Amino acid sequence: MSTYKAAHKAEFEANKLAKRLRREVGQAIADFNMIEEGDRVMVCLSGGKDSYGLLDILRYLKEKAPINFEIIAVNLDQKQPGFPAEVLPAYLDGLGIPYRIVEEDTYSIVKRVIPEGKTTCSLCSRLRRGILYRVADELGATKIALGHHRDDILATLFLNLFFAAKLKAMPPKLVSDDGKHIVIRPLAYCQEKDLIAWAQQREFPIIPCNLCGSQPNLQRQQVAEMLRDWDRRFPGRVETLFRSLSNIVPSHLMDAKLYDFAGLKATGVPDPNGDTAFDGEDMPPPVDVISFSGSRS
Ligand code: SF4
Repeated sequence: MSTYKAAHKAEFEANKLAKRLRREVGQAIADFNMIEEGDRVMVCLSGGKDSYGLLDILRYLKEKAPINFEIIAVNLDQKQPGFPAEVLPAYLDGLGIPYRIVEEDTYSIVKRVIPEGKTTCSLCSRLRRGILYRVADELGATKIALGHHRDDILATLFLNLFFAAKLKAMPPKLVSDDGKHIVIRPLAYCQEKDLIAWAQQREFPIIPCNLCGSQPNLQRQQVAEMLRDWDRRFPGRVETLFRSLSNIVPSHLMDAKLYDFAGLKATGVPDPNGDTAFDGEDMPPPVDVISFSGSRS
């Protein structure tokens, strides 16, 4: 391929990626009514690819949106050794947007409390959340935007299924732990691989996330690898899984808190959504049935 053609193709792909990410964020915002007229959105910026992507896409959409809202970026400098404190202020100054850098030494607290060699992320995240809620109050922010994406949501679903016996993921919009704020995840529909590509394309000044020296959470890593493997071997499976989160049938699960099984009475009226647990018309036959019958081999 000539250099010209290669450059043209790269530009075409870059445009496609930009459009896809912006469309997905716009769709998630609309589907969950994440941002409303007059909102002040506090965008939590860690220095990782996802939060840079979030800020970048929200700034773009702010210019195009039919409503007015404000964006203020917030970074929490947790005093991890080697944290390059100058990187984010330089980046944000370059954008010319309002921001606040909050300095709180959660690193020392975590090191003191958690034994050496253990994963420190859960305490660290709890401390960080509390500080961010306080800052949201101080800034008068009406929404707190976090950079979790589709694959974080799915990984959380499987972590809960495998290790906590819960059918629960990570919501795109929720009320904060202290009950005072609305937390939103505008990247909820975005794939991590797209955010990686976007970060490279936009040349975000990424700050490495291993400065704290925490042991990686092996369960989360394994689940993430499982999802990547499925994505490689069974195209479409991860998308189907993700869609299932918006398509829940409490009457076909087993949680009596969500569905009144005890009070269930025959109505005498045929129900098209009755006992279709195993014979839904739109469910393809299992793979072994397909290959056994020879119809697809
Ligand atoms: S990786 Fe380090 S900074 Fe990040 S949540 Fe875990 S302990 Fe905190």
